Amino acid sequence: MLKLQEIVKTYTVGEFQQTALNSVSLEFRKSEFVTILGPSGCGKTTMLNIVGGLDHYDSGDLIISGKSTKNFVDAEWDAYRNNSIGFIFQSHNLIPHLSILQNVEMGMALSGVSASERTARAKEVLIEVGLKDHIHKRPNQLSGGQSQRVAIARAIANNPDVILADEPTGSLDSVTSIQILELIKRVGTGKLVIMVTHNPEFAEAYSNRIIRLKDGIVVDDTNPVKHISEMDTQYQLKKTAMSFKTAVISSINNIRTKIGRTLLTAIAGSIGIIGIALILALSNGLGNEIARFEQETLAGYPIAITPSRLDFERLRELGETDLPEFPTDPIARVFDQQRFQNYLSVPNVITQDYIDYVQNYINTTGQSTIAGVKFVRNTNMTVLVNTGTELDPTYRTFYSEVKNPPIPSNPGAPFSTARFTLLPEGVVFTNNYEVIYGSLPQRNTTGGSTFEVTLVVDQYNRIYKTTLERMGFVIPDSEIDTYTVPFENLLGLEVRLFVGAYVSGESDVSSAITLRISGIVRAKETSNVTIFNNGLGYHHDLIDYIAQNYSSEIGSINSIFIYPNNFQDKEAVKAHLNLYNVGLDDAQKIEYVDQAQTFTSLVKGVIDTISIVLIGFAGISLVVSSIMIAIITYISVIERTKEIGVLRALGARKKDISRVFNTENLLIGFAAGTVGLLISLLLIIPINHIIYSLAEIPNVASLTIIHMSLLLTVSITLAFIAGLIPARMAAKKDPVVALRTE
Ligand code: ADP
Ligand code: MG
Repeated sequence: MLKLQEIVKTYTVGEFQQTALNSVSLEFRKSEFVTILGPSGCGKTTMLNIVGGLDHYDSGDLIISGKSTKNFVDAEWDAYRNNSIGFIFQSHNLIPHLSILQNVEMGMALSGVSASERTARAKEVLIEVGLKDHIHKRPNQLSGGQSQRVAIARAIANNPDVILADEPTGSLDSVTSIQILELIKRVGTGKLVIMVTHNPEFAEAYSNRIIRLKDGIVVDDTNPVKHISEMDTQYQLKKTAMSFKTAVISSINNIRTKIGRTLLTAIAGSIGIIGIALILALSNGLGNEIARFEQETLAGYPIAITPSRLDFERLRELGETDLPEFPTDPIARVFDQQRFQNYLSVPNVITQDYIDYVQNYINTTGQSTIAGVKFVRNTNMTVLVNTGTELDPTYRTFYSEVKNPPIPSNPGAPFSTARFTLLPEGVVFTNNYEVIYGSLPQRNTTGGSTFEVTLVVDQYNRIYKTTLERMGFVIPDSEIDTYTVPFENLLGLEVRLFVGAYVSGESDVSSAITLRISGIVRAKETSNVTIFNNGLGYHHDLIDYIAQNYSSEIGSINSIFIYPNNFQDKEAVKAHLNLYNVGLDDAQKIEYVDQAQTFTSLVKGVIDTISIVLIGFAGISLVVSSIMIAIITYISVIERTKEIGVLRALGARKKDISRVFNTENLLIGFAAGTVGLLISLLLIIPINHIIYSLAEIPNVASLTIIHMSLLLTVSITLAFIAGLIPARMAAKKDPVVALRTE
């Protein structure tokens, strides 16, 4: 059955070499009860470990059923221990956090016996060893004798061919010892039992063969094997593998025994998760808030294509100069701020090609996305207000523009501050403005030179002071905040539009176009479109009239303002405008400005930056908690060294050992993630209350399912990674050393 051939085993401790077995040759029968006697340190345990495949010899050979083990790989040793060997140790070595039943089942679990089958078999052997009534107890609830009975049950559960017992009665009183020996003899019937003992009487009484060892050498063998025929069994091995379920059960049980520590670890691990969850919830909520704001409040800002635009790249260079800061020399220097401003604004000249492109879009696919559009041409014109009398007029310039204006150094300014504005075509105006006094300007159908215009007030019915003054109202300084004008005084007010180059006192204003205020309009309360909020608005009719009668005074289209229906449509329009620039040189590109977006992307950028910084900090706490998990796993590995040895003796592979620890860390990671998310969800409630009381924005912080599953994954992954190295250490532990530790 088993044959040791000149087995040599030497342990090296530092410089010192200890030969534990010095060329031991022995043969064992398939069925016999062998005791090994010898003084302490003579190599008895070493021999058992080598026979059991737990320790490996330096030279010689262990022949199992005629098969040399010289070229055995780890898997074969694991399978051999699991299938063929049952170990019984002096100190019982039960796994403390598993129930007695689970302890007995472990070996079978490792060889893949189904759960129901192994429970049945474990109960069977526990009854066999006389522990019928103690099946569901824990190891620490048993006496020494009972513990050893469990160990015996565990050793025979997998029905091994060989039972190896290393001083099984060493820690028991004599009465119990005899019971245990009787039991071993009984369960070992028909098997090879090799038992180490100190007690020669026991050896005489129970065994049919006594081998004496001294200093690693066999000095006596009462019944050596003489005939080859006595070595007959065939050697068969099944592979072992711990199922994931077994690993999980073992992990859960172990976690249960130190629930306090595990909880602390999970809470520590959850702090980083909480940090990141809250930051994500807030920035996500603020992002949504901004998007909502953008949609509801700012979507109405037109997409503006103006003759110049700000170059943000250049804006960044704004502060850069080679001049020394805070110089001490008493010299003033010149700063050409004009050139600087010109430098920042880049010409954005609209070509006919571009106009056709936009026009084509508006008339076809873009039609449904656009509420209104405005093609602005500059004209040589001046709007004049008569501050004198009818007969003796004195004209004051209300507004003036030229056909070919220089590129404005402040792009965007003309359309927000203009006092005289072309109303966009399309429904955008009537949809968003209501007449609060008088009527909408009539279209000029008579061909006469009088046109109706509207006067716009803001939501407080205010008109710019300067606008009122230019219309001839005199506002005393003392009344700056209280001055009012009844609408009826404004209605019917007439101003003159002089087309051409106006020279004060020389130009003949009598033949100029007359503009009459027909109504006061104001943005609707529900409106979110800003066309203008200051001054006079005119219809395209006026432009047509000027084009017809003063064609030489009118310039080409220099600005386009597009008012999309809503936020989504704006994106569609922008996408279409972007298409125009594809493949063009920078100089040929025509860029639009989306003021609303420029604003919100700035805010969003700031929030994103803050979030990233905060997440960085939270990330550090995540790293710290990962290190903690690593340390705790490491401590756990040290604490459970003995258990690792026992599991290996039962046939667990290295993989199975690391799996037990990895599973435990997965569970801790899961717990940390879950605890973290639960606490975050709880914290979000007061946080939202605080934000609401501060800013009146309801439910800003919110966690999405995606964020939550992401965070849970992060938590599990980090805990797993943190535990990998300690788990590997556990797997690599030498089972012999592990079993020797106390
Ligand atoms: P026994 O079981 O007969 O008391 P052992 O087989 O445990 O003896 O030990 C045999 C010899 O080998 C002893 O001298 C012991 O100190 C030494 N030894 C056993 N294991 C180791 C080890 N892991 N490292 C160093 N020396 C060891
Ligand atoms: Mg020993």
